[in-house]
Amino acid sequence: MKIIYISSEISPIAKVGGLADVSLGLSRAVQALGNEVSIILPKYKCLKNSYLEHLKLLDVEYKVKFGATTYTVKVWEAMLHGLKLYLIDASSPKSFFDSPTIYGQRNDSQRFAFFSLASLEFISKYHSDTELLHINEWHTALAAPLYKEKYRYKFDAKIMFTIHNMNYQGVTGASLLKKVGLDTDKYLPQCSHPGSPTKINLIKTGICFSDYINTVSPKYYEEIKVPKNGHGLESLVQENEKKFTGILNGIDYEIWNPKLDKSLNTNYSFDHLENKYAAKAYLREHLKMPQTNQVPIVTCICRLVPQKGIRMIKHAIECTLKSNGQFILFGSSPIPKIQSDFEKLAKKHADNPNAQFIFDSYNEELSHQVYAGADMLICPSIFEPCGLTQLIALQYGTIPIVRQTGGLADTIFDIENHEDSDKLGNGFSYLPPTQKAIEQTLHRAFKIYFKNPMLWKRTIQRGMNMDFSWKNSAEKYFEIYRKLTHK
Ligand code: ADP
Repeated sequence: MKIIYISSEISPIAKVGGLADVSLGLSRAVQALGNEVSIILPKYKCLKNSYLEHLKLLDVEYKVKFGATTYTVKVWEAMLHGLKLYLIDASSPKSFFDSPTIYGQRNDSQRFAFFSLASLEFISKYHSDTELLHINEWHTALAAPLYKEKYRYKFDAKIMFTIHNMNYQGVTGASLLKKVGLDTDKYLPQCSHPGSPTKINLIKTGICFSDYINTVSPKYYEEIKVPKNGHGLESLVQENEKKFTGILNGIDYEIWNPKLDKSLNTNYSFDHLENKYAAKAYLREHLKMPQTNQVPIVTCICRLVPQKGIRMIKHAIECTLKSNGQFILFGSSPIPKIQSDFEKLAKKHADNPNAQFIFDSYNEELSHQVYAGADMLICPSIFEPCGLTQLIALQYGTIPIVRQTGGLADTIFDIENHEDSDKLGNGFSYLPPTQKAIEQTLHRAFKIYFKNPMLWKRTIQRGMNMDFSWKNSAEKYFEIYRKLTHK
């Protein structure tokens, strides 16, 4: 089957969060099932081009009308981990993607609406034999109504839409409809944001006009059917249940694999855990942390946004340090108040080498080293569509401590409290979103770490042997693609 993914991120050249890992991992796994797969991405100025192979400008200039202006569009082609990428941007009268970051511009909804339109135009002109279009998040959701209105006469494809996070819905002025060439009177009623009739909601356009929709874990799919997590779209999700499902994300074991990982000083596997402790020593040396062997390293690797449980993260840092553990916080916040609060915390612990604050929003190599060198990873999320850090941690023998929500609840099973812990126990989990609950859970983890090293080791090994690769999930996606295209 000929399949095209349209996405705003792909790892490692344009990564902000899990969407980037999914774009790479899922499309590689679907390609491995024997399909012809390519990805269309904006040609960001901030792309990490050094990871690309055979980057070249294609001889395919074309025009796209956006609002009152006609833009000339250029397309580059490149290979990334065996996948074909097409990179698109306007060359005149101006570029849409020349800012220093992927998101965060005032006109983000315009930029990605242009990208959605330019992608469909590219496919209709040069890849009209495409059978399945897979669009992602609000950034490319507008491709669904655009295809149904303007492009279904030009090529015959079905549309699958993945919502990676219902919290980001792409709410913007209704004038965008006219800009991309959609009749406002016809489309506004279906695309309007609940409660703001003059605005459109881009996630809603994706739900209404795609042939099939999914979120990234079965539990999160159930959660978005209620107001707390549906953020106003819960009724729409329920109304569309015949074409909606939850499919768990995987991770790409060629990229996240302690046996092969080139970012590590020493590779290891579940039957050679001694080398994991060499990775721990290397990490400590690198970060100038005391080499106190029996002390555990706890980490949190994430975007510091309210979703991730900010108060619980801060509390976990204090609890770990009070219990004489070591803590590595790795990530930064796009929200100035949250960032400055963490900076204050870092200042408070500036003289304590057991506390490391690495405010780097994205450092792929160091992230691999932290996953490998740490003993425990916390994910105290308020909600979590899937979560990848707990899956990566399992693979690196780092035990996850998570709140039972969304994909975290689908993948982490408490070694003391789960009914099937003898077979499945791979971490620690708790339910109330409180400081007390994470504190108690950290204490349980520390107790087993110090007092029951055999159980600790068994838990590491069980986690490392679990299969959260993309293979199973890619087969589920492909089954849907086949049904949609009647193949
Ligand atoms: P989200 O998509 O909400 O950000 P996920 O858990 O789904 O969360 O995915 C996060 C991804 O981003 C993981 O691959 C994680 O390793 C990566 N990541 C988070 N913080 C950093 C960082 N500071 N440096 C490098 N990678 C990071």
